[in-house]
Amino acid sequence: MAKKYTFACKDIGQACGFTAEDEDRNALMQKIAEHARTAHSMEIDKKLQNTVDKAIKKVEM
Ligand SMILES: [Zn+2]
Repeated sequence: MAKKYTFACKDIGQACGFTAEDEDRNALMQKIAEHARTAHSMEIDKKLQNTVDKAIKKVEM
């Protein structure tokens, strides 16, 4: 069964409508890192990485 990973910025407490999804978890993490940098001036450090990890949802398609 195919699956994908989804992320919503609001799930980590940001007042932000950004969402992202990808079949590849690492690719999704890169999109999130890019968004964090450009939209929030945040670098993904270890703490934020943990928070993001927990917020990523796996969806069966
Ligand atoms: Zn955001």
